[in-house]
Amino acid sequence: MNLGHVRRLLTLRGDDLVALGRDADARRREQVGDDVTYVVNRNINFTNVCAKSCHFCAFARGRRSEQAYLLPEGEIVRRAVEAWELGASEVCLQAGLHPDVDGMDYVRLVELIRAAAPGLHLHAFSPAEVTWGAGRAGLSVVQLLTRLRDAGLGSVPGTSAEILDDGVRRELAPGRISTAQWVEVIRGAHDLGIPTTSTMMFGHLETPEHVAAHLLLLRDLQRETGGFTEFVPLAFVHAEAPLFARRPDVRPGAESDEIRAVYATARMVLGEHIPNLQVSWVKHGVDEARDLLDWGVNDLGGTLINESISTTAGAGHGQLVTPAALRGLIEDAGRVPVERTTLYERCHTVEHPLDACEDGDFGSYVTTARDYAWSAPRR
Ligand code: SF4
Repeated sequence: MNLGHVRRLLTLRGDDLVALGRDADARRREQVGDDVTYVVNRNINFTNVCAKSCHFCAFARGRRSEQAYLLPEGEIVRRAVEAWELGASEVCLQAGLHPDVDGMDYVRLVELIRAAAPGLHLHAFSPAEVTWGAGRAGLSVVQLLTRLRDAGLGSVPGTSAEILDDGVRRELAPGRISTAQWVEVIRGAHDLGIPTTSTMMFGHLETPEHVAAHLLLLRDLQRETGGFTEFVPLAFVHAEAPLFARRPDVRPGAESDEIRAVYATARMVLGEHIPNLQVSWVKHGVDEARDLLDWGVNDLGGTLINESISTTAGAGHGQLVTPAALRGLIEDAGRVPVERTTLYERCHTVEHPLDACEDGDFGSYVTTARDYAWSAPRR
């Protein structure tokens, strides 16, 4: 498929969109069957202090903000161990680019968590964090990735991709890593045997051409390296985003037909190369996530337990969906729930202590910001 073809799929509406959805659903069935996977995981957004000010981001705070926080290492490890004891197989560490934190701090965090909970898969440090951490530590990207891998890092989130077009990136977030820097980290990780996910944030300033080019870039990179485990479209959450307040030309997220077209097109373009297409319930909510299972999707992401980035942007869908709730949602859609690991190995676990927990049992962004002000001792 070329750029023009992909662009055309993205703009189909009405009966043509319905037909595309049918094709994507059939393609999904051929490629991955009727299983819908999910991972039991915990997010640890260990600091919201960030040296950057991406215009779409409502999570970051300056270090002098009353809401700025930095979790001490002990608390990060405690949260990871608690997740393991609740049945999680993964912790996902992602955070702001803290001026006092460098790549060797990331390595140390990996070592501490691996020592405390050796069975946990560590999915951590976006390309923006790897680039930042390497620069602050005086290392190249490959040197830092090598140290992280050797310390026990399991995989890297392919976030900070937004739209992989430097013109759009400059509008969204001046000073953000460039497309080439994102690709450098991803290719470097894949070359070192570290798998990554792939993402795209849509529904803001981008055009269908940008989305089409983004999908084709991911397709071509996957043909080259084979290192992507999944693709996750991330709907722009506008409510608290500074970008939306400042610019009248910014859309308040994508409309439902556009969202369906993005998922169905992603299945058609990427499915042969990246068979796992994930919908994020924290971005869309569980009802829309269930609907999107009919548009090429075969994965519901993770339980999360704590989530601050979309929550501060105004997503409003909570921080935790239990494994039992995810299974129920999948069965309601007539599909087969299957728990997986980060790397899409099937798990045999069916029940979790986490099933008895509720959203809010693990604190909130507000309580974290209150309890772990950035000036608190880190060790
Ligand atoms: S998106 Fe990431 S790098 Fe940008 S301001 Fe937010 S936390 Fe910082």
